[in-house]
Amino acid sequence: MSDAAIDPTAPSDFIRDIVAEDVRSGKHARIHTRFPPEPNGYLHIGHTKAVCLNFGIAREFGGICNVRMDDTNPAREEVEFVDAIMADVRWLIAGWADKNLNLKEDATPFYASDYFPQIYQFAQELVRKGKAYVCDMTAEETDEFRRLGKEGPFRNRAVEENLDLLARMKAGEFPDGARTLRAKIDMQAPNIWLRDPVLYRIRHAAHHHTGDEWCIYPLYDFAHGLSDYLEGITHSLCTLEFEVHRPLYDWILEALDLPRPLPHQYEFARLNLTYTVMSKRKLKQLVDEGLVSGWDDPRLPTISGMRRRGVTASVLRDFAYRIGITKYPSLTEVDALEYAMRNEFNQIALRRLAVLHPLKVVITNYAEGKTEELEATNNPENPAAGTRKIPFSRELFIERADFMETPVPKYFRLKPGGEVRLKYAYIIKCDEVVKDAAGEITELRCTADFESKTGGATSNRKIKGTIHWVSAPHAVDVEVRLYDRLFTVPEPDADGDFKSFINPHSLEVVTAKCEPSLGEADPALRYQFERMAYFALDPDSRPEKLVFNRTITLRDTWAKEAKK
Ligand code: ATP
Ligand code: MG
Repeated sequence: MSDAAIDPTAPSDFIRDIVAEDVRSGKHARIHTRFPPEPNGYLHIGHTKAVCLNFGIAREFGGICNVRMDDTNPAREEVEFVDAIMADVRWLIAGWADKNLNLKEDATPFYASDYFPQIYQFAQELVRKGKAYVCDMTAEETDEFRRLGKEGPFRNRAVEENLDLLARMKAGEFPDGARTLRAKIDMQAPNIWLRDPVLYRIRHAAHHHTGDEWCIYPLYDFAHGLSDYLEGITHSLCTLEFEVHRPLYDWILEALDLPRPLPHQYEFARLNLTYTVMSKRKLKQLVDEGLVSGWDDPRLPTISGMRRRGVTASVLRDFAYRIGITKYPSLTEVDALEYAMRNEFNQIALRRLAVLHPLKVVITNYAEGKTEELEATNNPENPAAGTRKIPFSRELFIERADFMETPVPKYFRLKPGGEVRLKYAYIIKCDEVVKDAAGEITELRCTADFESKTGGATSNRKIKGTIHWVSAPHAVDVEVRLYDRLFTVPEPDADGDFKSFINPHSLEVVTAKCEPSLGEADPALRYQFERMAYFALDPDSRPEKLVFNRTITLRDTWAKEAKK
């Protein structure tokens, strides 16, 4: 039974409808899905969609979901990727679907390569049934014959000869590419995938999981359905490009006459996102060519990159639910992901004052050496977050952009002779602009209106602009990494070289002046630097030098408010 009580907000879609019907009809005793990444790179946000679908269904229908390394290609796969994938999956489902995660008894993932012995036996079985043969054509000839719908000269080899050649392929008697094992289906089939597809090829290569044990490797189409079958998968969910492979998936299981119920494949549209590239191959290029700092560079759409940037697992799951599951290819605006971030961070982020590009302000009518502790709200969206004290003194920093010497019309922040409110503090007036020999503004000399103290008895004077600030002698210096979109165009891989669209300003590093409480920032928490953006601590942080990453900018309400 679907347990809607588990998650009343769980989406509904055509795949969940099918699963619900299979549960209702009793077709399967228990729902069993799988997430089958190839360990040839790190997971990206596209995989989030597949993880949330497979684990979401297991969770909603009281089932389980396997993680299986789809590792049939020894050339591209590495143990580093297996470990990174597992870390990402565990992080993504923590506190949400951990109970539904199904691993091997030793808590390691399933591997398609674990089934190589059984898959080989299935291959022998197909040969014995006259449904597969060893073919000596080259890869090019094979492609050509399939394209032309022509039967090759090895198609009608005797069963005994096929069994012998297959055994010798396995024993390593032939070089790479000399022979293949092919399914014997229909060389004129309208669906080219049914024109005697290759099931096994010779590859004298060490494999990250099976070592030198094998020199023949099954192809994806042969290994995948059989792995699903061996694991007892009920619903095998994959992206649309496999729709044309489905007849082959079904043919293999049926040709072997396996006991029912058989797993069934369903396809959904993959996630494509604007302003990024998603394929592991392209992400790997960015990493290998040093265009980003690594697979966990916060600008990448990898799960580890987004985690480092400060995005939470719940934001990614929320995003995956919002975009939903359909059969129609589409391009999702990155704004939808950013919306999910802001939506959550607005609820949870602690508000803090930090000045990213500091300009010194001296309050000339404020006593030297005096410090006041002002009360500031930690999160207006959540009164339970409480308040904190922030120090105020004669010397402050404000944001350079909050002062204009020659202001544009309707500029309501600080200007010569103008007034502005310092958040949680006083209204100040700019009396004098101090410059150095080069004409650069080095300091503003201002006076405070002490009647205007926020929350004070005489604070009813209204003023249009409010800006943030930090007390200079109390300020904590931190490194702030201002990340922006990695690409300048919505579809960097639409045409041309995607690398030519890299945004040269995707990272700016500044030393910010922060209120003292940020010195004890917690990596588990999220912060809103008021009026600036949402931030999280980077793992590069050291006690003596904290590093914050900008996770996402704020909705620009302050700018609008200032213009009213
Ligand atoms: P890439 O092209 O990025 O390497 P892939 O499809 O080769 O992706 P796999 O590791 O084979 O990556 O994918 C594991 C699972 O995640 C598969 O079921 C696949 O269909 C799914 N998946 C991969 N990319 C996306 C995406 N962009 N949107 C939704 N699901 C995806
Ligand atoms: Mg793949």
